[in-house]
Amino acid sequence: MIKKVFCFLLILNIVIFSFTLSVNAVQGADTCAFEELELEDYLAIIDDMAETEEYPHFFAENADRYKDFQERYPDMPFETVIALVNVNNDMEGYRYVDIVTEPDELYVLLNKNFMLPQDWEPEELTNIGHGFLVRPEAAEQLEKMRAAMRDDNLNLVIVSTYRTIARQRNLFNNAASSRGVRRAERSIARPGHSEHNTGLAVDVLHRGATGSLSSMRFEGTSQFSWLVENAHEFGFILRYPQGYTEISGYIFEPWHWRFIGIPIATAMKNRGIVSYEDFYGRYLVQGMRDKVNEYIKEQQRLAEEAEAAALEAAELEAAETAARLAAEEAAEAELARIETVIRIASQAAADEALARTRLDAVGREAMVHDTTYINIHFTVMLSVLGLLATAAILYIANVKSIGLLSVLRQVRQGDGSSVLRRQRDGSSVLRRQRDGSFVLRRQRDGSSVLRRQRDGSFVLCRINTPFGTSFRQYLQAKLAFIIFKRFFRVAQN
Ligand SMILES: [Zn+2]
Repeated sequence: MIKKVFCFLLILNIVIFSFTLSVNAVQGADTCAFEELELEDYLAIIDDMAETEEYPHFFAENADRYKDFQERYPDMPFETVIALVNVNNDMEGYRYVDIVTEPDELYVLLNKNFMLPQDWEPEELTNIGHGFLVRPEAAEQLEKMRAAMRDDNLNLVIVSTYRTIARQRNLFNNAASSRGVRRAERSIARPGHSEHNTGLAVDVLHRGATGSLSSMRFEGTSQFSWLVENAHEFGFILRYPQGYTEISGYIFEPWHWRFIGIPIATAMKNRGIVSYEDFYGRYLVQGMRDKVNEYIKEQQRLAEEAEAAALEAAELEAAETAARLAAEEAAEAELARIETVIRIASQAAADEALARTRLDAVGREAMVHDTTYINIHFTVMLSVLGLLATAAILYIANVKSIGLLSVLRQVRQGDGSSVLRRQRDGSSVLRRQRDGSFVLRRQRDGSSVLRRQRDGSFVLCRINTPFGTSFRQYLQAKLAFIIFKRFFRVAQN
């Protein structure tokens, strides 16, 4: 079972990985090629590359050729050396020849090292009058340029335009047979090497010029000056400038103007690049196109990485924000919970306090009631008991006092006997009678004392006891009172 799951996951991984690869491959193929870029953008990319690389058009595999060519032309700027070597300008013309791969392009480079394919012909040509044929793009701009010159009162005569490769062959062969191959090569291109074979070149002169092209001194005319100044605006360049014979392979030809399109003509003018070989070697060779494509891919990759990083950062920030919000929310919830707990607890405490207060009130009421109830009963009971005890004590005391009196009666007799006589008012006086007897008289306050009189009689007088009786009686009464009080207090509590 585990094995099956593992296998399934492995297969799933492989499928996802393959899908990712294929997507990447498709994206890679999507990169802009040279043909899809505007020339301005393409050149701007190379300028960007030049920011970090002094010679973007330097190719390591050509290093030795750059060195050799620089030795041949010590005064030539190194970037021009590189550019010219890149277009095989260090190779002897007609000895080392490449067939161009883009013969239909307006920017095609043709010279003694590059030729058109055998029997190649332009797809379309426009007759601009007198049987002169040029490519439609060139025809349109040539017409505009001539109109602009007419506005400046300058006429321009077309002398030569498109030639077939076959006609070029005849031209060259005739020149070669009359002047010799070497001399013919200096001014006439071999078949397939001439820009006139592309339909993009025109030879022009001023009106009234007669004779051979080189004898017309076109370079001294206002027309030539105007063209040097303005032709780039119409996509034309002077293809074989003065002083560039070593590079172009041809003598100075002020009459030969090549249409390469407005963007490249303008770029050359703005960058001060006179030789098309120089420009082509710097910017348009296949190696540079590949470099630019690589550069674009790299920039895209960096941009994607930056985007991914930004996305990741944004996601991270979002996650952090979410986490912070969650934490704050949790904290708020916790706070709310604690507050609720506190509120509930406070409420509970308040309720409890209230309940306790009520309970206390009820309890106190109940207790008061109970206590009162108990007290009343207990007090009554103990009072009764106390009274009974007191009564018992008093009874006993009475018996004792009677007993005492009985002793007195027995002792105090004149004749040796004593008489206890009760008076009418209820008092009793124990008095010794003449006959020697004693009378016990009871005092009004209830106390009695037995006192001996001068006449030898005894009087029962009051003594300072609550009961007015004997000390023993007093103690007994006092004890009874204490017991009573104790009972009463217990009952009260
Ligand atoms: Zn020409």
